Parts: sequence; C-alpha cells; structure tokens
Amino acid sequence: MRKKRIVVLGGGIAGLEFLSRVTRKIDHSKYQLCLIDKNELHIWKPMLHTFAAGSNAPSEQGIPFLIQAKRYNFVFEPGEVSELNIKNKKITLAAYVDKYGKKILPERHVNFDYLVVALGSQTNDFNTKGVKDYAYTIDDLGKALRFYDDLKNYIIQAAILEEKHYLVVVGAGATGVELSGEIINELKQSAQYSDHDFAKNIDLTVVQSGDRVLPSFKQEISQAVKETMNGIGIRTLLSQRVAEVTKDSVVLESGEVLPADQVVWTTGVKAPNVLQQLAGVEQSKISQLVVNNKFQLLDNADIFAIGDCSQMQNKPLPPTAQVASQQAIYLSEYFGDIIDGRPNIPPFEYRDYGALVSVGRYASFGTFGNRMAVKGLIAQLAHLYLYRRHQMQILGIWRGLSAIIADFFRKKAR
Ligand SMILES: Cc1cc2nc3c(=O)[nH]c(=O)nc-3n(C[C@H](O)[C@H](O)[C@H](O)COP(=O)(O)OP(=O)(O)OC[C@H]3O[C@@H](n4cnc5c(N)ncnc54)[C@H](O)[C@@H]3O)c2cc1C
Repeated sequence: MRKKRIVVLGGGIAGLEFLSRVTRKIDHSKYQLCLIDKNELHIWKPMLHTFAAGSNAPSEQGIPFLIQAKRYNFVFEPGEVSELNIKNKKITLAAYVDKYGKKILPERHVNFDYLVVALGSQTNDFNTKGVKDYAYTIDDLGKALRFYDDLKNYIIQAAILEEKHYLVVVGAGATGVELSGEIINELKQSAQYSDHDFAKNIDLTVVQSGDRVLPSFKQEISQAVKETMNGIGIRTLLSQRVAEVTKDSVVLESGEVLPADQVVWTTGVKAPNVLQQLAGVEQSKISQLVVNNKFQLLDNADIFAIGDCSQMQNKPLPPTAQVASQQAIYLSEYFGDIIDGRPNIPPFEYRDYGALVSVGRYASFGTFGNRMAVKGLIAQLAHLYLYRRHQMQILGIWRGLSAIIADFFRKKAR
C-alpha cells in the first residue's frame, strides 16, 4: 500500500515543533513525513537579532534539518517553495543554489496528500520608497548575516579610521529595540578587549511612527525601555514616519533627513511571497492563510496552516513564537484524529502567557498574562526559558541539556 505523504512547509518554530511531536504519534507504516525548508538549519527566529549584531553564531545555535530528519524519522527536502498548487496537491521547489551561486539541484516538484504550511512571515515595508533597494531586514538567517557582515566592516572603519558610522533602525517594536540594544552591547563588550572605543563613532537612531517604543507593552515598560535605550546612547525619534530610504539617508515625512550608512527595516510582517501569489483561498490583509479552529483551510480540509503565515478565522492572534509553538503543540496532538475524521476534537484555545523584551544585557522587561509587569533577572530568565524550552521540545531532554551546557562553556571560552 502506498504511504500517504504529509508534507510540512517550513521548519521554523511551528513546523519543527509540530514534526518533532507528531512523529511520535502517527503510524509510520501508513504515513510518510516530509519537511521542506529553504535553509539547512533550524533557527530560533527570536534570536536573529543576535546573529545580526554578531553576539551569537548560527553554527553554534542552529540545528541541522538532516540530523533532525534521521532522528525523528522524516525526509528532509531542501529547497525554496516557489509555487503551491492546492488543486493538484503539488509543490514546486525553485532550483537549489548555494551561497556562491552554484546550482546544486534543479527545479523539482513534490506531491502531498496532507500539507502543513508553516512558512512564517517576512518584514512588511508597506511599499515605502527605497526600502527594497537600500534597507536591510533581519527576518531570515541569510539577511541577518548579510547585515552583520556589512556592520562589521563599518565598525572596523569607525574604530581604525575614526570614521562616523550612521545606523538607523526603523521600528521600535520588539525587533527594533532588541537589535539596537544588542548592537550597543556587542560594541561595548568588544571594546573591553581592545584599545579602540568601538561605540564612540557609531551613531544609532531608532525611528518610530507611534509616540512610544514597544507600543504593545504597558506604558510603564515603554517608558523604562526608552530611558534604558537613551542611557546607552541610542537616540529614539518618536512620532516620525519614514517617507523614503535612499542610498545614504532616511527621509522623514517631517522633511528631516537623517544620514544613514545602514538602515534596518523592522516594522510589521506579511506572509511570504509564495503565499501572496496564491489564488482561490481565503487570506488575511497581509496574505496569511485563513484557517478554522483546527488549522484547516476553510475550503480544503487536507491543508493546514500554523504560525505566522496563518490567521484563525474571527480570532486573529499576534505573530509570535508563543502563538506558533502553542499551535504546533495542538496540531501535533490532534493531527491523527483530524485526518482520520474522528469526532469531538476540541478546538484550539490560545493562552496568553505575556511578552518579554531585552535591551541587550542592559535591561529586561516583561508582562505575564497582560497583568503583572516584571523586570531584571526574572524577565531575563523567563526570556531564556522560552528558548531553552523550545530546544528541549525539538532536541529532547538529553540533547537539550547538552546544548545548554555547551552554550555555557562556549560563552566562557569566548
Ligand atoms: C528578529 C526577530 C525577533 C523576534 N523576537 C521575538 C520574541 O522575542 N518573542 C516572540 O514571541 N516572537 C519574536 N519574534 C517573532 C517570532 O520569531 C515568530 O513569530 C515565529 O518565529 C513564528 O514561527 P513560524 O514557525 O511561523 O515561522 P518561522 O520560525 O519564521 O519559520 C518559518 C520557516 O519557513 C522557512 N521558509 C520561509 N519561506 C520559505 C520558502 N519559500 N520555502 C521554503 N522554506 C521557507 C524558513 O526558512 C523558516 O525555517 C521575532 C522575530 C524576529 C524576526
């Protein structure tokens, strides 16, 4: 009997947590599990700003999909999904090209019986002029590393040639705040081991259209974070909209022009391009797939969507790691029951455990369940706990613990 193929698109937080759990529940003599991802490594996306700032390395934190595949009994197909044909249940993967431009694999097609779309999201530039051509985004590993490579060169010039480097971060949500804090943190740490004051010639401005940083947090946290940022030398420009990004500046709607060698765009998200091209399925304003409370497309029960690329009908949730993880856990729990058509499956219920943010190693803040505000060590530990719990989910307890111990010694040896 032919095994039915369950294909998961995207091995991020939602996709890999789903796979790592569902593999223990489904009957492998009836179903084959397959993962498709454009990268070779699984990355905890909330860590991308640390790769962009150079304080962490993907070779140390990334988990190779090939190893996960062997361990958890699924097939890994590397490749970027370029087209999704829902009617014919067929996925097209673009030719696989390495980072030097060498073609490794031709364009391919993969068929599926069941599909779980977990392709995440990308930064939304709201069609602002010049962003595509001149701004960086840090919404995937390649882009975060690209930004860091250039930042490193500017820092060397700033330190050795005493040249001023102007860096503008657009957006003071969690990504913008954490990235700018991490950059200053890294500069100050590096300076401890050198005769050069790395931070002296770096001019870092964060521009925000709203009147406070971290608008989704409590007012008191926004205020404390802004004070921390200003205290470590980050300029915050609030209530300012960006009209255009040029090769060497950011033009504000007020007419002010900020000099900029590097601009990082961090505001908002939208679904990946491949989903924007889909026709004939219900999608949100930012092209997420609209799903029912069991994560099935509204008119195709064999196709599921979880994480940032999905939106539950009548119950939109924020694009966060917490949401992606809870959705993956629910779907892995009930996936077999849903595809076997068993009755009385409880609908997904989201539990909001709050949100956390860190400004480098200078300060951490958080809210639990939207009520209690915490700061300092408790918030820092809670932040770390989220990542470590995710590692345990996908690596298992022993490998997860080994990763924690390895990180500890790596930091000491650095
Ligand atoms: C810098 C940064 C910091 C963040 N910090 C936080 C935080 O502190 N707390 C929090 O809750 N959330 C945070 N987030 C948001 C959080 O990371 C996302 O909500 C979460 O990763 C969503 O999980 P996901 O599985 O839907 O997508 P992802 O984790 O992004 O996974 C998507 C996967 O799909 C793959 N993929 C994408 N397109 C294609 C394609 N065309 N073909 C093949 N593969 C593809 C990607 O390689 C990736 O592996 C942050 C995001 C960023 C960018």
